Formats: sequence, C-alpha cells, structure tokens
Amino acid sequence: MPNIKNLTSLNMSNIPPVKEYVSLKPYTSFGIEATARYFAAFSGEDELKQLLSNPVCSEVPALIMGGGSNILFTQDYQGLVLHNNIRGLEILEENEQSVVIRVGAGENWDELVGYCVRQGWAGLENLSYIPGQVGASPIQNIGAYGAEVKDTIKMVHTLNRHSLMPLTYSNADCEFDYRQSIFKKQLRGKRVITHVVFLLSKKPRYNLNYGTLNVTVRQKGAVNLTNIRQAVIDIRRQKLPEPDETGSAGSFFKNPVVDQNKYRKLVSNHPDLPSYKLNKKHYKIPAGWLIDQLGWKGYREGDAGVHPNQALVLVNYGNATGRQIYELATRIRKAVRDHFGIDLDYEVNIL
Ligand SMILES: Cc1cc2nc3c(=O)[nH]c(=O)nc-3n(C[C@H](O)[C@H](O)[C@H](O)COP(=O)(O)OP(=O)(O)OC[C@H]3O[C@@H](n4cnc5c(N)ncnc54)[C@H](O)[C@@H]3O)c2cc1C
Repeated sequence: MPNIKNLTSLNMSNIPPVKEYVSLKPYTSFGIEATARYFAAFSGEDELKQLLSNPVCSEVPALIMGGGSNILFTQDYQGLVLHNNIRGLEILEENEQSVVIRVGAGENWDELVGYCVRQGWAGLENLSYIPGQVGASPIQNIGAYGAEVKDTIKMVHTLNRHSLMPLTYSNADCEFDYRQSIFKKQLRGKRVITHVVFLLSKKPRYNLNYGTLNVTVRQKGAVNLTNIRQAVIDIRRQKLPEPDETGSAGSFFKNPVVDQNKYRKLVSNHPDLPSYKLNKKHYKIPAGWLIDQLGWKGYREGDAGVHPNQALVLVNYGNATGRQIYELATRIRKAVRDHFGIDLDYEVNIL
C-alpha cells in the first residue's frame, strides 16, 4: 500500500484530484459513516483512464461508485473510491417506431426515466423512482413492477479496469437474470461501465400486470406513460422509505428461488405461502413474506431496523453503523434458514 505522499502527489498532475479520508456518508443512501482512504471523481473516459493507469493508483484496491444506493459499508474503505460523473445523452438512431439512446453512466437513473417519459419513449416507466445511476442499472438488472432493465438494454460500453481497453457487451453478452448479470458474477469489479445504450419504443405496450399498478394508473385517468410513471412513484412512496429521509438500500435480500420438492414441502407447512411459478421446476418466494412471518417487520434495535411497511428493507434511523445493519441482516438470515430451511442471498453489495 503506498503512503499518503505517493497518492496525493497525483494532485500535482492534470488528472482529477485525489482527496484523502473522505466521508462516504453523503455518497450512500444508507447514510452510514465510513471513510474512503482515497477518493476521486471522474467525468469522462480519459480522466478515468488517467486515474486507473497511474501506477500509484493501481497499488490500492479501487471501487467504482455510482449513487451508493446498493452498497453497505461495514468498515472504512482502505482503497480508492472512484465516483462516476460521466454525463450525457445522445440519440444514435430514431424512426417512427423506436429510438436508440446512449447515456453516460453517471447520469441519475430516475432523471433519465422522467426524460424518456416526457419524450414519449416507452420501456423505462415501470422503473421510475429507483435511486442510483444509469451505469449501475445493468449490474443487478434493476427491476420493479413487472419490468426489468434488461428488456430495454441494447449494449453496455465498458472499460477493462486493468488493460484500460474499451469493451462493448451486447444484451446477450450481459447474461441478465433476476437481479443478476455478468457484471455481478464473473466480471464483478473488473469492468467500469461508461455508457449504456437503450432501445425504447415510440409505440408502447403498457405493462400493468403487477400488483395494484393497473388500478392506480386508471385512477389517474388515461393509461399513458406519464400516469404510469406517477402511479409507480405513488405506490413506491407508500411502501418504501423516502431515499432522502430514511437511510436504506432498498431490498436487502433477494427473493429466493426454490425447486419443486422444496416448494411442496413449504406449502404443506404453510398453505398460505405466496409464490410465483418461474417454470415447471422452480418457484420464486417473496423474501419479505418469509421475514414478516417471523415477526421482523418494524423491528428496531437502536438505529438499525426493519422497515414497518416492507420487511425486505433494512433501515438506518439515524446513527446506525454498517456493522449493526449487517448484524441485523445476519440474524434475519439465520432465522429464515432455521424456520424455512431457505438461505437468503443479499441483494446489497456489502463491503
Ligand atoms: C429506497 C431504495 C429503493 C430501491 N428500489 C430498487 C428497485 O425497485 N429495484 C432495484 O433493482 N433496485 C432498487 N434499489 C437498489 C439500487 O437503487 C439499484 O441497485 C441501483 O441500480 C444502484 O445504483 P447506484 O448507482 O446507487 O449503485 P452503487 O450503489 O453506487 O453501486 C452498486 C454496485 O455497482 C458497482 N458500480 C456502480 N456503478 C458502476 C459502474 N459505472 N461501473 C462498474 N461498476 C459500477 C459498484 O461498485 C457496486 O458494486 C433501491 C435502493 C433504494 C435505496
């Protein structure tokens, strides 16, 4: 690990300044205190390349950070946090049916959704009000209200973290799955996503099958992109903590998928078990229901707790530490394993 003089001496050159001991609290939605040993922001590929190619930077681990809405820091980060500020949106192709846009990874996700809805470009509206940046959206294939971002992504532009070579991934290359992609599996931490290319429709096929969305949209009047976006925002505001008010990272756990044998066993013990049939052999079980059955919803210990309206969401009521949130998550996991025999996976990136 280089000494302080080494890394901060980078500030003498024309690459973005590297700061030391930067609080990450304002950069994460959990609002938890943790310090980055080194911190720099980049607003273009050249700046990023300059930072990554400097031999001093390559001596410490580096973490690419977007909106910090899917990260839990359980301790200070002893490496270099690189905050993505690559902005911009350009139209690559357009005709009467569709539009192809290329968006900078550092753009705010919900601002992009709002912009597309105003243009009449369909595909992202069900994903309204998800915090974070565009660049993180393919990583866990963000999803909500019956939609997943994989259905609109045409290509993902990246930079190899080590060779600094640009590499483009087609939709199929990304190996998208439920809250999963190649960037969260074998390429985890190995690529920096710089731009995402979306294919959006000008002749929308609305997707209102999920939960109460259909009813809420129709209460607003016509079925159109604006009303769908507003309905999604209204429902999310009722169910989830306001990102600016209560610290969280959204769903802390993924919904588990079980095979048929396990499913039958569960149903015989819990006839009211909600489930979603994925295919002939697999069922998805709502993790929130499992956690709620065990009485965790609304549980609070100090400033760490389980959201009163959504048992999947762990919250920081003010001054919880990352350790406290993590310990609570570990206890919930154990309780679910002991009672249901199901291992919950974390959706949040725990560092
Ligand atoms: C209140 C709330 C509600 C939420 N609701 C949903 C929801 O409905 N559906 C859903 O899917 N998610 C949801 N989330 C989770 C989160 O918003 C998404 O996962 C989002 O895409 C994370 O974006 P981010 O920019 O904040 O990523 P970060 O938290 O900054 O990063 C997440 C991971 O991606 C990596 N990363 C980020 N940007 C890049 C990049 N450009 N290149 C390479 N690696 C990168 C980071 O290193 C980290 O490992 C919610 C979160 C909150 C707080």
